[in-house]
Amino acid sequence: MPHTFNRLTAHVHWLSPDGTTDRPVLGAISGAHGTLIVDAGASPAHAHALQKAITAAKLPAPRYLALTHWHWDHVFGGAAWDLPTFGHVETRRVMAHMATLDWRDAALDARVAAGEEIAFCRDMMKLELPQRHNLVLRPPDIIFADQVTVDLGGVTCRLLHVGGDHAADAVIVYIPEDGVAFLSDCYYQNLYHAPPCYTTAKLLPLLDRLLALDVDLYLTGHGDAPLPRAELAAEATLLAQIGRTVDAIGANRPAVLAALAGELAQPIDGEIIELVDAFCAGLPFS
Ligand SMILES: [Zn+2]
Repeated sequence: MPHTFNRLTAHVHWLSPDGTTDRPVLGAISGAHGTLIVDAGASPAHAHALQKAITAAKLPAPRYLALTHWHWDHVFGGAAWDLPTFGHVETRRVMAHMATLDWRDAALDARVAAGEEIAFCRDMMKLELPQRHNLVLRPPDIIFADQVTVDLGGVTCRLLHVGGDHAADAVIVYIPEDGVAFLSDCYYQNLYHAPPCYTTAKLLPLLDRLLALDVDLYLTGHGDAPLPRAELAAEATLLAQIGRTVDAIGANRPAVLAALAGELAQPIDGEIIELVDAFCAGLPFS
């Protein structure tokens, strides 16, 4: 699917994702002093697609890069950006380790066999970047633990560490002047756990924090369209109902579904069952 480069608000543009190779949403926030890029992309080719779009739109030149977390699809495009790069302390730690790994097919396959890498990520990496012998990983060089604000001139980007089940280092990019936040993958499931899991302990406070921001439009890491506040709020309510029911009943899918049938405003479908299973998988000792 070809990317589209979309203007969201006065200072914010976003490049649409491409599920063919799991390319995520990338962002460009532009002020009088330049443009801050949200995530490096899944490959230099992905990064070049954003660079071309920024040039075509005549936006101010890229000046900073911000990484939302260490997952390959957000950082493997790093070689294409010669920019000061913001990232969480844990993003730097994990990426420094990744830089020591062999990313060629045989070594990658061995890590999948050993349970250290996800088969889906391996398959997508092979499609997006068939040659990985010369992969350049650029860990962030401006490191923060909690938050940092970047003044772009007339608009600011607040990089907030939020963590969550998906990645402990997850950072969001909040643009208060425009009422926008790039959430990246922060409230997705933990995919480095088999089966993928959610915990109410991490997810519910995270969703509360996201909804407490003065934001009208949220951009998610792999979503095709911006998420209006009301839609994120509805999703948060559903996730909280399912998570709390699983916490109360335990890892018993039929009993949980029976309880939810009387509680939810929507029918039990495959998506609900998947979420129940994810919260069950996240229970201690399950
Ligand atoms: Zn991710």
